Amino acid sequence: MRYTQEFTKVLTCRELSAGIYEYTVAAPQISRLARAGQFVQILVEGKQLRRPISLAGFDAAAGTLTFIFEIRGEGTRRMAEAQVGDTLDLIGPLGNGFPLPEAEHVVLIGGGIGTPPMLPLAQYYGGKATVISGFRSASSVILQEEFAAAGVTVTLCTDDGSAGFNGFTTQALEAHLASHPCDLICTCGPTPMMRGVAAVAAKHGISCFVSLEERMGCGFGACVGCAVDIKQANGTVSRLKVCTDGPVFAGEEVCW
Ligand SMILES: Cc1cc2nc3c(=O)[nH]c(=O)nc-3n(C[C@H](O)[C@H](O)[C@H](O)COP(=O)(O)OP(=O)(O)OC[C@H]3O[C@@H](n4cnc5c(N)ncnc54)[C@H](O)[C@@H]3O)c2cc1C
Repeated sequence: MRYTQEFTKVLTCRELSAGIYEYTVAAPQISRLARAGQFVQILVEGKQLRRPISLAGFDAAAGTLTFIFEIRGEGTRRMAEAQVGDTLDLIGPLGNGFPLPEAEHVVLIGGGIGTPPMLPLAQYYGGKATVISGFRSASSVILQEEFAAAGVTVTLCTDDGSAGFNGFTTQALEAHLASHPCDLICTCGPTPMMRGVAAVAAKHGISCFVSLEERMGCGFGACVGCAVDIKQANGTVSRLKVCTDGPVFAGEEVCW
C-alpha cells in the first residue's frame, strides 16, 4: 500500500446540508495515488487520533481531493471550522479501494453520509450505472446534481417520503432488479442497509462490494482496532483490518 502525509491547503468549503460539509484541498501527492473507495486520516487539533474520511473526489491533474463529512462529535465539529486557506494535515490514500471490475450494468447504493464515496464510482462507470441513494428526509439530501452530471441514472429515496421514493434503498434496489439487468453492486452506508443490500445481491447472484465503517485508530494497520470477522474461501473466519484489508470487502465475505 502506498500512502503519504501531506499538508494540504483548503481551496473550497461549503455546507451541503445541515451539519454536512464538503472540503476540497490541494493535495498533489495523495490525489496522484488515490482510487475510488479509499480514505484519508485527518489530524484534528487537540485530538490524538486522526479521523478517517472517505474520498468523495480526486483529480490528479488538478492535484485536488474532495471529502464530505457529517458532524458526529468533537473531532468532526472542529474539522468543520477549517476555512479556505487553512492547512489540513492528511495521511492517505489509505485502504483498498473498490476493485472496479468490468461491468455493463452497475448499481451504486449510498445511505446518508455513505453516499459521497459512490461519486467517484459514478464518474468511473458513467452511463452504465444507476445510483440509488437514501436519506432520512429531503433536508438531508446531498449530491443529486453531481450524480446526474456523471451521466448515471439517479433514484432518490427518503425514509419519510419528503423527496423521491418513500422507502429504503433496499426496496428501491429490489424494484430496480425486477426490471433491469445488473452485474455489479457497490454500496456504502449504515451497516443494516449494507447487510440488506448484500442479502439482495446474494439472492440474485450479483457480485457485491461493501465499504465497511469501523471505529479506527491509526488507519494503517498498526493498532488492529478496526478488525472485523471475514469469511475465507475455505470456510474459516479470519479477523481482518478494515483499514488495510478493507474498507471494501465482498458482501458475502462479511460476517454480518
Ligand atoms: C474508512 C472510513 C471512512 C469514513 N468516511 C466518512 C466520510 O466520508 N464522511 C463522514 O462523515 N464520516 C466518515 N467516517 C466516519 C468518521 O470517521 C467518524 O464520524 C468520525 O471519526 C467521528 O469523529 P468525531 O470526533 O466527530 O466523533 P467522536 O464520536 O467524538 O469520535 C471519538 C473517536 O471515535 C472514532 N469514531 C467515532 N465514530 C466513528 C466511526 N463511525 N467510524 C470510525 N471511527 C469513529 C473517532 O475516530 C475518534 O477516535 C468514516 C469512517 C471510516 C472508518
